[in-house]
Amino acid sequence: MKELAGVCAAKGIARGFIHILPPLSRAVPNHQVSEESIPQELDRLEVARSSSVKEIEEILIESDLPAEHREIFDAQILLLADPMLFDTAKNRILNGKQNAAGALADTLDDFKRQFEKSPDPFFRERIADMEDVSTRVLSHLLGTAQGDPRLPFLKKLPADAILAADEIPPSLMLHIRKVAGLAVEQGGVTGHMAILARDRGLPALVSVEGLLENVKEGQPALLNATENWIRLEPEQTDYAAMQGTQSKVRRVQSPVSLRGGGSARIWVNLDDPEDASEESVQAAHGIGLFRTEFLFYKYPDLFDSPDDHTEVYRTVFRSLRGKPVTCRLLDVGDDKALPPVFNRYLAADKQDAILRGVRFLLSHPGLLHLQLKALLEAALDEGMQTEHLRILVPLVSTRGEILEFREYYDAIRKEVSKERGIACPEFPVGIMMETPAACVMSDVLSRYATFFSLGTNDLAGLALAFHRSGPSEDPFFQPSLFRLIQTGLKGASIPVSICGEMAAIPEIVPILVEMGIHDFSVSISSLADISDALAAYDPQKNAGKLARILNAQNREEVRSILLE
Ligand code: PEP
Ligand code: MG
Repeated sequence: MKELAGVCAAKGIARGFIHILPPLSRAVPNHQVSEESIPQELDRLEVARSSSVKEIEEILIESDLPAEHREIFDAQILLLADPMLFDTAKNRILNGKQNAAGALADTLDDFKRQFEKSPDPFFRERIADMEDVSTRVLSHLLGTAQGDPRLPFLKKLPADAILAADEIPPSLMLHIRKVAGLAVEQGGVTGHMAILARDRGLPALVSVEGLLENVKEGQPALLNATENWIRLEPEQTDYAAMQGTQSKVRRVQSPVSLRGGGSARIWVNLDDPEDASEESVQAAHGIGLFRTEFLFYKYPDLFDSPDDHTEVYRTVFRSLRGKPVTCRLLDVGDDKALPPVFNRYLAADKQDAILRGVRFLLSHPGLLHLQLKALLEAALDEGMQTEHLRILVPLVSTRGEILEFREYYDAIRKEVSKERGIACPEFPVGIMMETPAACVMSDVLSRYATFFSLGTNDLAGLALAFHRSGPSEDPFFQPSLFRLIQTGLKGASIPVSICGEMAAIPEIVPILVEMGIHDFSVSISSLADISDALAAYDPQKNAGKLARILNAQNREEVRSILLE
């Protein structure tokens, strides 16, 4: 038996067998072909190359890219015509009898190694372009247009799989539902891999040091994410100790009456539209956060078909039967990498970490238009009242951003009204309070929105300077975070709800109530815990705690006040 330590991303226990997620480069089939198949493989490479050129040309024709962004795609077309990459791959097919996809992947690896060593920045800068171009060609070769070649591997995972990986990007997480548990070597608790695991009730550990060095495919394993360990080849006694410890998702009721008066409402964070019809979701007050960006991971063709796009929202609205649905507009950046389908709308800035949330949307009005229009159309089709659709704008930090957004919103509403011959109602607009700037400017921002939703995941990362996909220790217990939230709440003159993961920590919930928050949106697997924490809230027991937390020196002090 070998035990490795990790950090809990989603509580729970899993027993099963290790399945190792292959790295992207190894997911490409790589094998020898017969002499007679060589012309066919050369042909496949050529067809995939020319389809890629055509695809990029279409992007250039269809999209309204500024000149400096067009240059990037022009350069990619040149690269596709450049004999360097493709002639080398062809040689591998001809002389090494390799299949086309394997030959291209190996050629890319060789060039990458050489370019990485080059002192000339010109060559290092070409690596990203070469990777982009090769991924495009590979997706044609593998017939997985715009998808990750590891999807077939994920689809075949059995229910008793414990998936071990270096990291699992959110785009792949969307396709993982029926496994026993997850363990990754990288990752942090506020990253979207962790959020999606909690969402699905999948026990998960992140930051498991030495994981890939120690696991073997098919090895029996026991993962206890509640106690932060994974045991490989466990003893029989380990299994026996775990009997009956599995927790179940319980149905909850909203609102919850609070001792001392008033009530709190429980909302759900929805990451996958398929969950909208679940019984536990139906029992909640409504959807407090619908992370629409995940739609594009799940349905990569959504951008090509505005009708399908509208239909996804219609289905969600119908499933919720008149409950409020808070649709957050596309929020990409940080650990939510852009799926390749976005390439058609993007160019130079797609790797730019500064362009996230609302800023990204404002710089891509085509996307904003597509999504807002689909939401409004779906809401009108379903006869939704203004209280049933709430539009939430991500990562706002300045007055200018929300004002600019509102201009687009008004214009799109006018367009829809004109097309339909009826007035499109003004569905309420909310702002994610998730940047330190939004907290300190909440008095000003309040004038341009109907509600705030507190996003403690980004707020913690931005305030404490850590990447969400990297390790972070207990960020939600830092006194600085409580102070920032308090500042945001004090300045706000509109209702503030919470949808960040801090709302899902039962020890913190009473203090959030003390701070005046009465709307909690959490993932499905946290509904029961949060409902219990609210039902157990005791104003007498919490009297004076908030002031002490706001004056605390460090997270240990905060933690001990909370646990008193
Ligand atoms: C947050 O930042 O707290 C949040 C709820 O949004 P996301 O986790 O999707 O960034
Ligand atoms: Mg956020």
